[in-house]
Amino acid sequence: MRILLFGPPGVGKGTQAQLLTEKYDMVRLSSGDLLREEVSLSSPIGKKVEQFLRKGHLVPDDIIYELVDSFLLENKESDILFDGFPRNLNQARSLEKSLAQLGQTIDIAFEMYLDEEDLIKRLTDRRYCPKCGRIYNSTTNPPKTEGICDVDRVKLSRREDDNPDVIKRRLTIYKDETRPLVNYYKSLNIYRRIDAKGNQEEVLGRISEAVNGHIDNKCRSN
Ligand code: AMP
Repeated sequence: MRILLFGPPGVGKGTQAQLLTEKYDMVRLSSGDLLREEVSLSSPIGKKVEQFLRKGHLVPDDIIYELVDSFLLENKESDILFDGFPRNLNQARSLEKSLAQLGQTIDIAFEMYLDEEDLIKRLTDRRYCPKCGRIYNSTTNPPKTEGICDVDRVKLSRREDDNPDVIKRRLTIYKDETRPLVNYYKSLNIYRRIDAKGNQEEVLGRISEAVNGHIDNKCRSN
């Protein structure tokens, strides 16, 4: 199964991706996480992309393809959840091609949506564990002890790009570059829209309903 999550920054893709991969035993491809890892390793790719991430601009497609294609090859036997990739139409077409070479297709493309005021609040309140990557939010998903990861007991951090100016830029880039994916995936008949309001279990319930329906249909047609 190949599932894709897209939506504006702050909509909760990362949180849902974490929950879905556990629930359906999938591997997760988060292009943002792959890029942040390169930056933290100060690798040649990391050095090239650091400024793009800091400013909230999209990283050039060829760098993304390099990371994604090697991930796809390493994980060709696994069910994959794509989180934050593709981010534009060229990336979407490239993903189709790369999957086709492996004899695979995307099963469902979920667009998560939320109004802008809630997005900005979620991004402003977002924290993450630098050790395990778990995502917290002081209002919607607080840790048991303020500022500390429930699992690793280390101090939570704030992403450098979760600041007001960069948040604005990322939202604009989303509207201009990523939202056109809606029509693209509608035309492929795999588009589903998910209301991201509410707590993480409610949102997970909405996505799971669609995934379970898809799995049932697949079983029936086999
Ligand atoms: P995310 O963790 O998905 O919010 O991504 C954080 C940042 O990484 C974005 O603001 C971009 O700078 C970069 N990024 C992540 N995924 C992509 C992608 N598929 N294409 C281009 N840039 C990306």
